[in-house]
Amino acid sequence: MTSMEYRRLIACHECDLLLRKPASVGARVASCTRCAAKLGALADGGASLDGICAMTLAALIAFCIAQAFPVIELRANGVTSEATLFGAVRSLWSGEMCMVAAMVFCSSTVFPLIELMAFLYLLVPLRIGRVPPRFNRVLRVVQLVRPWCMVEVFMLGVLVTIVKMVSIADVIAGPGLFALAGLTVMLAIVASFDPGRLWAVHERLTSARRTGIRWSKVEGRRERFMRMQPVREPARSSAVTAQRAGLVGCHACGLVQAHAEGRTRQRCSRCGHLLHRRHADSLTRTTSLLLAAVFAYIPANLLPIMHASTLGRFEDDTILGGVAYFWSSGDWPLAVVVFIASVLVPMLKLAVLALLTLTARRGSAWRPRECTVLYRLVERIGRWSMLDVFVVALTVTLVHFGSFAVITAGPAALAFAAVVILTMLASHQFDSRLIWDSVDAARHRARTDRPGVR
Ligand SMILES: [Zn+2]
Ligand SMILES: [Zn+2]
Repeated sequence: MTSMEYRRLIACHECDLLLRKPASVGARVASCTRCAAKLGALADGGASLDGICAMTLAALIAFCIAQAFPVIELRANGVTSEATLFGAVRSLWSGEMCMVAAMVFCSSTVFPLIELMAFLYLLVPLRIGRVPPRFNRVLRVVQLVRPWCMVEVFMLGVLVTIVKMVSIADVIAGPGLFALAGLTVMLAIVASFDPGRLWAVHERLTSARRTGIRWSKVEGRRERFMRMQPVREPARSSAVTAQRAGLVGCHACGLVQAHAEGRTRQRCSRCGHLLHRRHADSLTRTTSLLLAAVFAYIPANLLPIMHASTLGRFEDDTILGGVAYFWSSGDWPLAVVVFIASVLVPMLKLAVLALLTLTARRGSAWRPRECTVLYRLVERIGRWSMLDVFVVALTVTLVHFGSFAVITAGPAALAFAAVVILTMLASHQFDSRLIWDSVDAARHRARTDRPGVR
């Protein structure tokens, strides 16, 4: 096989199955035939470059408004206090919660800003038919910061805080809130665009330059939809993985290439990203991160997450105590939301990741499809546990009425933020291809054991 032929292949990023790339998938979403993973980088229909470019620009404007104006204002006893995004960070920082402040600042401000700026840097030149300098570095930055942008979780945090505060004071929605709502929607649309798709544009542009075809003609070509075909082993009808075929798929740009046997560090020939047939020590890393998360989970639930002092009376609030308070005071929808985000999701994440590492360690081929679905679920819902951290940040900023009422963050806020970060890192470290390796190994064993078949 030549390198040109490799370009017609895709290795599924979740189960490593080798698939033939259809000439075009149109607006439809292509998915892996074995594990049903969405191959987003393939879609050449859907949102156009122009649409995403405009959406990113609009999101950047909404971002500036959301930063500049207060999100919520609170009025109690004739005193007004307001919370801006940056104000929430500042009051955590001054309350000696520097780590939590840094996490809130990065996930709600720094990373979304980096993502939007970097995306715009790539999209504007590509639209007019130029490849910007340092294309693949900047694209990699977008891919790296994307999982850590949590504007939508912050938005939910604002809503929970509003409902919480309504009973104790007058709550006024600030102009920042509307900008934040708009930003949430626009970022969701921008995030639906897989940056890996830009590699196809990059390739078309560079090949167009070589052959002298004009960009508009290349872009205008539309081919009909073709079904995804797994690559089959010759002489046998079973589908083959990239590893078994001696190939490796790049996780950053998706390019399939020959695996250099014996070389410890092989880099992608297109984007320069480090290639891994399987992530080395994936299970060891996942297990250690999981153990650390379990240890942080205990103080996160036992220690107070907020200290409240109202008219000389001091009160400590734990996560479960807060849920119980909402439930007993009749705010049961809020109790359910907080319970799911702060208690159920972290517990579910820990349990699912422990189950996956255990089955992968034992090399068991138990229900691979269901395991993959569970893994995808953990990857998707993990970020929502940050909800409680954001609610604490906003509450601390809003409630500082001198001797009348002051709320400060407690040690559980740090422990809880650590649980969220550690479980997210653990799920990133887990290599989902390991789930399917046991299935391949079992199938291979069964075939070689059968008499008459080599
Ligand atoms: Zn797959
Ligand atoms: Zn690559």
